[in-house]
Amino acid sequence: MRFTFNAEQEAFRREVVAFLEKEIPALDIELDKYEMAGGSSREFSRKLAEKKWIGLTWPKEYGGSERGYVDKMILSEQLIRHRAPTGYHFAAERQIGPAIIKFGAQWQKDYFLPRFINAEDNITFCLLFSEPDAGSDLAAIKTTAIPEGDHYVINGQKVWSSGAHSSDYGWLLARTNPDPTVPGHIACSEFILDLKTPGITIRPILNIMGEHHFNEVFFDTVRIDKKYLVGRENEGFKQIVAQLDYERAGIERLMQNHLVYERLKSYLREGEFADEDPGLVYWIKDAFARLETELTIGRLLCYQTAWMIDHRKQISSQAALCKALCSQYEHRLNDVATRLLGASSLMMGEENPYAPWEGLVAQSYLHSPSYTLQGGAVEILKNIVAQRGLKLPRA
Ligand SMILES: Cc1cc2nc3c(=O)[nH]c(=O)nc-3n(C[C@H](O)[C@H](O)[C@H](O)COP(=O)(O)OP(=O)(O)OC[C@H]3O[C@@H](n4cnc5c(N)ncnc54)[C@H](O)[C@@H]3O)c2cc1C
Repeated sequence: MRFTFNAEQEAFRREVVAFLEKEIPALDIELDKYEMAGGSSREFSRKLAEKKWIGLTWPKEYGGSERGYVDKMILSEQLIRHRAPTGYHFAAERQIGPAIIKFGAQWQKDYFLPRFINAEDNITFCLLFSEPDAGSDLAAIKTTAIPEGDHYVINGQKVWSSGAHSSDYGWLLARTNPDPTVPGHIACSEFILDLKTPGITIRPILNIMGEHHFNEVFFDTVRIDKKYLVGRENEGFKQIVAQLDYERAGIERLMQNHLVYERLKSYLREGEFADEDPGLVYWIKDAFARLETELTIGRLLCYQTAWMIDHRKQISSQAALCKALCSQYEHRLNDVATRLLGASSLMMGEENPYAPWEGLVAQSYLHSPSYTLQGGAVEILKNIVAQRGLKLPRA
């Protein structure tokens, strides 16, 4: 593995930075400071599409550029650093497209992939996996999709479905074998679900910030044509495990709060705390040095994982390690910022004159419990590292 970019990669990084520095200020939207991506803009997604930077790693036959995952990581890192509004095509590109390429039927490839690559209308997807009694233990889902003639009939409930209220489609995991004695990991299938199909009810769940991000999604005798099955019946769980590796290997987890890191760094550089109690000054320096170390290691781990994908190596344990480390770094980043700013760090509101850094720390602190849960809880990731990586026996 190289620890620096080669000449082409460095040239690509510069090209991306130049593009973002020109295009983002020209957008007619206010970027979201608190979201992982700086919000959603179809206009911006289309500009990326014109550069052929959506589907960068996809095979040419599906409209992609067949570039390596290290290039993709370079692009992702810069998009996040610049708070680029990638929300419009994010899910379609990150996991739906690759899953369709790997497991999808020909009509699914023909219909969806060109639309994703070109950031066309109606390409937003949400993930319909978790249920009230099935999160970490995803194989325990109870939602069923029972074959009936040319259709599947879906009944059940999902929860924590991010963005379901503003998505066109759901990527659904449901039991296709209703026999409760058959273990879930050989009884589930994946489906593409048009969220306008009759029988679907989407209800909001407000998060701790009072924001509408999550939803509950209910299915009451929802009939879908069999052509919406993705891959093979009862093999959905195996398919999802591979998809999650790619989700966990992303640099998003490390950098979704990078603005807090940047504000913290410039605060420390300005040296306003230099006259404080020496014990506090020592604590601040020590805490920031640790953060800097973890950020550097996390970034290298992400790039190493991308390199491993390019070299067709097995990434399951590495991707879990990556996400476990990166999401815990995010926790500590917020913790350090909160302790440093003291009670005022709890003040919220961009317009609030008493809220330091426009309330950024309070916002990110309230979001932070979710970092070690979304995409797989940290304990589950550690189990994967122990079992698949270190080959330790199951506890
Ligand atoms: C911001 C955010 C966005 C999300 N978006 C989506 C989405 O779009 N679609 C979707 O389907 N889901 C989504 N989720 C749900 C997410 O996938 C689940 O929260 C996650 O899988 C954990 O499941 P759970 O919440 O049921 O917790 P549980 O599985 O009940 O876990 C609770 C705690 O117990 C621990 N635990 C559980 N099992 C074990 C074990 N075997 N060993 C050790 N410890 C264990 C966990 O680590 C955790 O700390 C989202 C979650 C968050 C926070």
